[in-house]
Amino acid sequence: MTNEQIWQAVLGEVEIGLSRANFITWFKDTFVSSFENGQVIVCVPNEFVKRWLENKFYKMIKASIEKITGQKINEVYYKVEIKKLGTTPAPASAAVSAPESVADSSAETKELPTIGSGHANRFGLNSRYLFENFVVGRGNELAHAACKAVVNNPGKVYNPLFIYGGVGLGKTHLLQAIGNEMSKHTSKILYTTSEKFTNNYIQAIQSGKAKEFKNIYRNVDLLLVDDVQFMGGKDGTQEEFFHTFNELQQENKQIVLTSDRPPKSIPAIEKRLISRFESGMVADVGKPDIETKIAILEKKAVEKNYLLDEEVLNFVAENVQNNIRELEGALNKIIAYHEFNNTTPTVKSVKSILNDLLIDNQLKSFTPRDIIEIVSKFYNISYKELISNSRKKELVMPRQIAIYLIREELNTSYPTIGDELGGRDHTTAMHAYNKISEERKNNERINQEINSIKQLFYNSTH
Ligand code: ADP
Ligand code: MG
Repeated sequence: MTNEQIWQAVLGEVEIGLSRANFITWFKDTFVSSFENGQVIVCVPNEFVKRWLENKFYKMIKASIEKITGQKINEVYYKVEIKKLGTTPAPASAAVSAPESVADSSAETKELPTIGSGHANRFGLNSRYLFENFVVGRGNELAHAACKAVVNNPGKVYNPLFIYGGVGLGKTHLLQAIGNEMSKHTSKILYTTSEKFTNNYIQAIQSGKAKEFKNIYRNVDLLLVDDVQFMGGKDGTQEEFFHTFNELQQENKQIVLTSDRPPKSIPAIEKRLISRFESGMVADVGKPDIETKIAILEKKAVEKNYLLDEEVLNFVAENVQNNIRELEGALNKIIAYHEFNNTTPTVKSVKSILNDLLIDNQLKSFTPRDIIEIVSKFYNISYKELISNSRKKELVMPRQIAIYLIREELNTSYPTIGDELGGRDHTTAMHAYNKISEERKNNERINQEINSIKQLFYNSTH
């Protein structure tokens, strides 16, 4: 086996356990330069990756090399070295997370933004979103580390940084934390949402201020664009953004983007933008684990000068499942209620207050129609198309996923599902359900898409 073959086999193993974003981030442009006497030297493109692989993947990589070569490995060293003619690992999987229902488009869309001017919140940033009050845990450690790396070396290490993940998981918080941190050193910072960008652009064209628009967006040290998934389908905006992007990137000005799903999964977005979005680092934020949720609750309670005992903390963390925004909402509700009544929270009192948030009740009020609607929305197709007879590839999978979710979440009978899906036979529904169940076992991309759609239910104000 050559070094190259060994490393490719290792990558093949590693890839299985990671999301696409993680995999690309940590293993792109890595290779083995030497393998002798039980010592392996793995070359990586920069210090950041080196540290991360040493700390997080050391055991896994060592074990994998041992397994593949059948030799005992004493030591794996990591070295920063750029590969001359790069072969990039091409992972099969891709990960996705949920779309956000509402973007925080603000009232100031009519005016062109001013860079670093004295807005109520400087640069359009909320001063509450800081690294200091961001709790790092499983699910967000990659994105957090990437953001820190960008702050320490803007425009150099990862440009753009593309953060994606489900609603309420801290994307905006991280994005703005970068802005707040960098505002200590530069005032040429612009935070915007893709909706604001679009509105500003249209406004600028209509009022003959296209040039001013360009000047503003192309003259920053840091451009933060939240929720870029909303650029999907807006061709003029995409064109303009493409040029803005290129100009900033060429001048090593840092760009950070967030989205509810990875670049490739954004519907109706130009290929050249996808490739730009993927050209730096893509990092995902996932759901927090229970420890992280407890830590967040504790931190937020302390911020509010409020004490919750351990039992209550555990109860809330265990039962509020979907995202951190909901966790915060739950905490606020608990505090408000008990302060008002001058009582101390107990599991019992908390349970009754949070009833509507608790998982058991979450989907009870949904109908198959609601699920079909949400799935169509997620895939950017119409309700009619989803239930139609068309066998187009882009419709078949969403249709099967809708069937799967109706069965899984509502336990609806197959004949009824068939009826809801444009009068299909019950065996079709059954087949679709089984197919997706199988698919979920091996296809991380589908898996994540389904999780994202579920988050959409939980977050819809139904
Ligand atoms: P997103 O943009 O991904 O929808 P936000 O950044 O708006 O999510 O986060 C929702 C809320 O949860 C915000 O109030 C944010 O401060 C809080 N939050 C999210 N992640 C964390 C975290 N890791 N630590 C502390 N607060 C968090
Ligand atoms: Mg957000």
